[in-house]
Amino acid sequence: MLQHNTIDAQTEINNQDVTAIYLLNDQTLQINDIEVPLQQLGYTAKISDNINAIEHEIFDLMEIYNQYKSYHLFILLNTMVLDETIAHKIDRLKQQYSDNIHFIYYSDNNNLMSHLQGIRHHGEAFLSYPFESGEISEIIKSLSVIEPQDYRILLIDDDESMGIYYSHVFHKVGIECQYEKSIEFILDKVTEFKPDLILIDYYMPECSGIELTQMMRQRIDIDFIPIVYLSSETDPLIHLESITQGVDDFLYKGTHSKYIISNLKSRMDRARSLKNSMMTDSLTHLYNHAMINEQFDLELAKAQRRSTEVSYVMIDIDNFKQVNDTYGHMAGDKVIKTLAHFLTNKLRKTDIVGRYGGEEFAVIMPDTTKYDAYRVIDKLRKDFGQISHTYEATSFKVSFSCGIASFPENIEQDNIIEHADQCLYLAKEKGRNQVVHFINRNH
Ligand code: GH3
Ligand code: MG
Ligand code: MG
Repeated sequence: MLQHNTIDAQTEINNQDVTAIYLLNDQTLQINDIEVPLQQLGYTAKISDNINAIEHEIFDLMEIYNQYKSYHLFILLNTMVLDETIAHKIDRLKQQYSDNIHFIYYSDNNNLMSHLQGIRHHGEAFLSYPFESGEISEIIKSLSVIEPQDYRILLIDDDESMGIYYSHVFHKVGIECQYEKSIEFILDKVTEFKPDLILIDYYMPECSGIELTQMMRQRIDIDFIPIVYLSSETDPLIHLESITQGVDDFLYKGTHSKYIISNLKSRMDRARSLKNSMMTDSLTHLYNHAMINEQFDLELAKAQRRSTEVSYVMIDIDNFKQVNDTYGHMAGDKVIKTLAHFLTNKLRKTDIVGRYGGEEFAVIMPDTTKYDAYRVIDKLRKDFGQISHTYEATSFKVSFSCGIASFPENIEQDNIIEHADQCLYLAKEKGRNQVVHFINRNH
C-alpha cells in the first residue's frame, strides 16, 4: 500500500488534490534513480514490477483519494513493454479513471515511431531516457491543471432581450456570464466579477462604447481585460476607430454564435497566457518579484482585516556561485528548478511561493505564526539538504538559508520584508544552512 507523504496536521484534507506516480519497471533500465528523487520532491511515487500490481495499488488507493477534492494518477512506462496484454490493461485503466489518469511514455531510442506508439496508447507526454525527476515534475504540473477552463464574460447591453439571449448562449457552452443592462457602477462590477473578457454593445444610451472603453483602459488594475464590441454596426470606419481606442475586436450581432464563442474563447486564452507570462518567472514558473510582493499586500490586508497572522519567508541558496563555478550554469539552473518544485510540492496549497530573483525565493504563509513558519521551513531546509543533485557522473548537495518575519509583529509591509531580509543576512553571517526568525525587541 502506498504511503501518502504530503498529508500533515496542517493540511485541509478534503480541499486538496493529490498525486500518485507509478513507474512500471522494465528491468533493463536503471529506473531506481527516479523513485527516490520524486519522493524527495514531495510526490508519492512507487516502482512496480507489473501492471497488475499497479492496478491493485490504485484500487486500494482510491479509498483514501476519494476523500480529496481531486486526484491525479500518473503511470510512467517504456514504449518497449507495450504488448497486447499491457495495451488492454491501459485501455481499461483509462476507461475507469478517465481524466484522472495520465500515461507518460519513455524510450531510449528517441524516434518518432516510439512516440507515436505512446500516443496510440493514451500517451500524453513522451520522454527520452535517461530523464530526470525534474522533467517528470514539470510534465505532472502541466497535466494536473487540465480542469475545464472557467471562462467569465461580463456582458453589457441595454437591449434586455439581446442580453438574455447571449447569456443563454454562453451558459450553454459552460461560460459563466454576468449580464448588466446599464453601465451604472460598471467599473465596480468589473472589479468584483473579475471577467476574462468584457463584451459591450456599441450603442448604449448613457455613453458610447468607446467612452466606456477609455474609462476602463485608464484603470491599471483592469486594463489588461480584453474588450470586444458586439453590435449591429457594420461601418468599417467605426470598427477602425474603435480598434484605435483600445478595443480588441468588433463582432457583428448577426454572426453565428459558434463563431462568436470560438473567437471570444481564443481571445480569453491569449489574454490569460499573456497575463501569466507577465506574472511569472520563465525558469521556474513561480510568481516573479513584483507579483509576490503584490500577493503579500493582499495577504497582509486579509490578515489585518481578520486579525490573523501571516509569515514572510526569504530563502537564499548557500554558496550558489560555487555551484555555478564548479558544475556550470546549467547545473545551477537545475538546482533552482529543483528548489522551486520542492517548495511548491512540500508546502500547503495556501502558501504562495515566488522567485525573488537569482537564487532567492520568497514564501508567503497565511495564517501562520513565525514559530510555525520556522518549524515548517526548518524541516524543509533539512530535507532539501539531503537531495543529491547530479552533474554528469558526480553528485553534490546544496543548502539554503532563511529569514522569517511575521505580521502582526512587524506592522508595515516594507518593514516585514526588510526584517525577513535582515534575518536572512544574519543566517548567512552565522554560518549559513539555517533559519533565523525576527525577534521584536520592543515586545
Ligand atoms: P551566499 O551563500 O552568501 O548566498 O553565496 P552565493 O554564492 O549564493 O551568493 P552570491 O550572491 O555571491 O552569488 C549568487 C550567484 O547566483 C551569482 C549568480 O551568477 C548566480 N545566479 C543568479 N541567478 C542565476 C540563475 O538564474 N541561474 C544560475 N545558474 N545562476 C544564477
Ligand atoms: Mg546565495
Ligand atoms: Mg543571493
